[in-house]
Amino acid sequence: MNIHEYQGKEILRKYGVTTPKGVPCFSVDEAVKAAETLGGKVWVVKAQIHAGGRGKGGGVKVAKSLDEVRQYANDILGMTLVTHQTGPEGRLVKRLLIEEGADIKKELYVGMVVDRGSQRVALMASSEGGMDIEHVAEHTPEKIHKVFIDPVKGLLDSEADDIARKIGVPEGSVPQARAFMQGLYKAFDETDASLAEINPLIVTGDDRIVALDAKFNFDSNAMYRHPEIVEMRDLDEEDPAEIEASKFDLTYISLDGNIGCLVNGAGLAMATMDVIKLYGGSPANFLDVGGGATTEKVTEAFKIMLKNPDIKAILVNIFGGIMKCDVIAQGVIAAAKQVDLTVPLVVRMAGTNEELGKKILAESGLPIITANNMAEAAEKVVNAAQGK
Ligand code: GDP
Ligand code: MN
Repeated sequence: MNIHEYQGKEILRKYGVTTPKGVPCFSVDEAVKAAETLGGKVWVVKAQIHAGGRGKGGGVKVAKSLDEVRQYANDILGMTLVTHQTGPEGRLVKRLLIEEGADIKKELYVGMVVDRGSQRVALMASSEGGMDIEHVAEHTPEKIHKVFIDPVKGLLDSEADDIARKIGVPEGSVPQARAFMQGLYKAFDETDASLAEINPLIVTGDDRIVALDAKFNFDSNAMYRHPEIVEMRDLDEEDPAEIEASKFDLTYISLDGNIGCLVNGAGLAMATMDVIKLYGGSPANFLDVGGGATTEKVTEAFKIMLKNPDIKAILVNIFGGIMKCDVIAQGVIAAAKQVDLTVPLVVRMAGTNEELGKKILAESGLPIITANNMAEAAEKVVNAAQGK
């Protein structure tokens, strides 16, 4: 689960991490009022979308008067912001963050992710802040410094100080940078984050350390114990198909291919996508209907897949373990009849009551293409999607 920059900064403040003062706004008038309340002479008008690269895309503007605040707020609110992370279709900006302007001497980078290899939180830091960290990692990897944080001891003073010096924090500000990184780690740990990225973290003209940007991702499976973070969810920023699927307890992820997949079990769903790829096709989604898929669930899953204009064929791949194949077959038929199926449907079933399930499909009168194993199913669905 993702949140907006201004929400990330609210979390950071609770953990003692310094951020500029700012106010989230939903209209131009609110934006001007916010700037007045903040005071000062320079403000930053920032688009709030769940994607980075806003600066380059025109979604971050420095205003030197209230008139400019009004003008930039007017320009940015309602714009479709295209960045390297939004894809060509961009994102409609519905929220702004108005912040007091910062006096930037240096832009640095600090990020944290869960590192599966070491089973620890990895702290990554670089002197090259403000730009694409992926670019830095590719071209000058020696400029990224890492610490794998011991979960029992936390981020040690010595580790934090060492990193701060390596990324060019002035000596007098090292204790502040230490508190910053330790606060960030505490926030990361206690909120069950999977990623926290401060890019840029700045050194101000008077050598203070401030988080100018904040990006957080959280482990969705841990959100039941963080209702205050779940409240920050902005459904406008999420995929409508995924929201719809979550209402029916379906694990669904949109992808950019053209073959819809309906599978029971996450492992089988992954394997199904792999075998589609192997035969030269491309999955339109990941979908695990779960072990106890009812006709209702299967029907909803079909509806969600068929709303995708790119879909050219659907593959149903079911292992009947606890679920019996005849029950699944009946569910597939009922669903196919209800949704007015417009694309070829390939079904592969194996397991309990397999023969009965196949018989039911064959006698349904629906143009269902059956397959006896996964390879055959993949080949047939890839051909069907290509109109062969
Ligand atoms: P991103 O492009 O989506 O990552 O958005 P950021 O919040 O990182 O902002 C992009 C860039 O705008 C930063 O790297 C800064 O160079 C600049 N910027 C952001 N806030 C301020 C500010 O208060 N003052 C000045 N002068 N520049 C800012
Ligand atoms: Mn940034």
